[in-house]
Amino acid sequence: MRVSGAGSGTFSAMSTAIPVHVGLFTETDPPDLLGGRCTSCGNHNFPRHEICPYCASDATEAATLSAVGRLWAWTAVTHPPPGYRGDIPYGFGVVELPEGLRVVTRLTEPDPSRLRPGQPMHLEVVPLHVDDAGQSVITYAFAPDEPVTP
Ligand SMILES: [Zn+2]
Repeated sequence: MRVSGAGSGTFSAMSTAIPVHVGLFTETDPPDLLGGRCTSCGNHNFPRHEICPYCASDATEAATLSAVGRLWAWTAVTHPPPGYRGDIPYGFGVVELPEGLRVVTRLTEPDPSRLRPGQPMHLEVVPLHVDDAGQSVITYAFAPDEPVTP
């Protein structure tokens, strides 16, 4: 199954696709990453914190984060974590956004040899698994802009 844009800013599969967690990303095309920004120190955070993790201020606001970044670290998950029902292996890593924060994220590329440090990445919304009610559960992931040949 592919979750793709319907061109109107909503997904045609929305009636059967539910986000793994509300408030992390939008289901627009292209999707946005939803985080927070501290109005005291100016740092961004993801997922959104009500209390700034940098200066402990509660003067935080919702912020739409960049949907692009650079790959900072990565690995492949080859054994399912407890409770995980999706496919393995899958890529997992850290992407640094232009705002300066590093986001821990699923990666669309499961083969570590096809990824490179600093490579440009962009946000996508991808299927995660199908729940007991038969609904497709979707999550955010970062994908390489250009595939790398090992
Ligand atoms: Zn702060």
